[in-house]
Amino acid sequence: MAEAQVVITQRGAERLFAGHLWVYRSDIRSAEASPGDAVRVCDERSRFLGRAFYSDSSQIAIRLITREDVPIDRDFLAARIRAAAAFRNRVVENTQVCRLVYGEADQLPSLIVDRYADCLAIQTLSQATERRKIEIAEILQEIFSPRGIVERNDPKVRLLEGLTQKVSLLAGEVPPEVIAEENGVRFHFDLFKGQKTGGFLDQRENRRAAATYASGEVLDCFTYNGGFALTMASRCQQVEAIDLSPAAVEAGRRNQALNQIANVSFREANAFDVLKNYDEQGRRFDMVLLDPPAFAKNRASVPAARRGYKEINLRALKLLRPGGYLVTCSCSHHIPEHLFLEILAEAANDARRQSVVVDRRTQARDHPILLTVPETHYLKCLIVRAL
Ligand code: SAH
Repeated sequence: MAEAQVVITQRGAERLFAGHLWVYRSDIRSAEASPGDAVRVCDERSRFLGRAFYSDSSQIAIRLITREDVPIDRDFLAARIRAAAAFRNRVVENTQVCRLVYGEADQLPSLIVDRYADCLAIQTLSQATERRKIEIAEILQEIFSPRGIVERNDPKVRLLEGLTQKVSLLAGEVPPEVIAEENGVRFHFDLFKGQKTGGFLDQRENRRAAATYASGEVLDCFTYNGGFALTMASRCQQVEAIDLSPAAVEAGRRNQALNQIANVSFREANAFDVLKNYDEQGRRFDMVLLDPPAFAKNRASVPAARRGYKEINLRALKLLRPGGYLVTCSCSHHIPEHLFLEILAEAANDARRQSVVVDRRTQARDHPILLTVPETHYLKCLIVRAL
């Protein structure tokens, strides 16, 4: 049988020349390939452009893996996974939890591998990585000898690939809760049911950075399992941590007990209401943290997202004592940093609080940003001091 091959348009080829890894369905001329094949990619003059994962369903039809003419086999995948892990050995510190493979940025498009102590959680988010799931699990077992591997394949993007949403144990054993330490704090992680693959690994370095500015009374508005709140508690007098989700608040309380931390109080509440009420009551804090879910999931929702970010940031700034800190995040890829800064400037101005940005941060280094794929840059974390 002839090798699987996809011919792309000139516009598609230009996208690859510009460094992007994705070619959309509208730029596919012809495809002699099955779902999930690692295909040869050529232009209309039969020039070889690289090898890519092919999807027959998603708008992202092609995800480039390499520009070289080499087989995409088990050894190839193992070498890429080893390279990704070697980089983590260099940059990841103070934690038993980290992202080992971050998809496109590790040249392993649509594959996520997260480590939680001796267990792994993986996501295979395209037809190609789904098809190689067992092989990938075997490679991970060879390299990392984990206690077990969970597939956290419940993200909605799987539906665009014609794949189902599912969570299951792929190998070994994974307890309902894994206890792992990050920045000196222990957390319970539920790899089967927790948000994302169990936790928000991308905020590790920001939690540590935020803690260096923390003191007095702190309000952590979207706390999830208490990540920011518990990391900074020892430097503070009192931390109030809120989340809309009962399961999150419950997890936060259990992590608090696990670490025997007394000065954090968790409660279930809507951050928009709490900020508004505290503003009206004239409550004051030394630090407010805002780490909401992505308000802009796509381009169309940017204007509404902008209003949402402005509202919470404006209120949070008003709650700060002179010299207090706002730690504010946005994980919407569609709100780039310059826009986020603009929203904050408007918020500060409307709040009549002159404010300075003291630290401009992003996702932790185990989630590197591939320069030519802007989609890999999503998290902004700004530490702002209200004068
Ligand atoms: N700060 C956390 C991650 C937060 S993720 C960490 O460091 O790990 C966003 C959280 O916001 C989720 O736990 C979600 O349940 C919560 N959330 C969503 N909408 C909310 C709202 N209106 N008020 C309070 N919490 C909300």
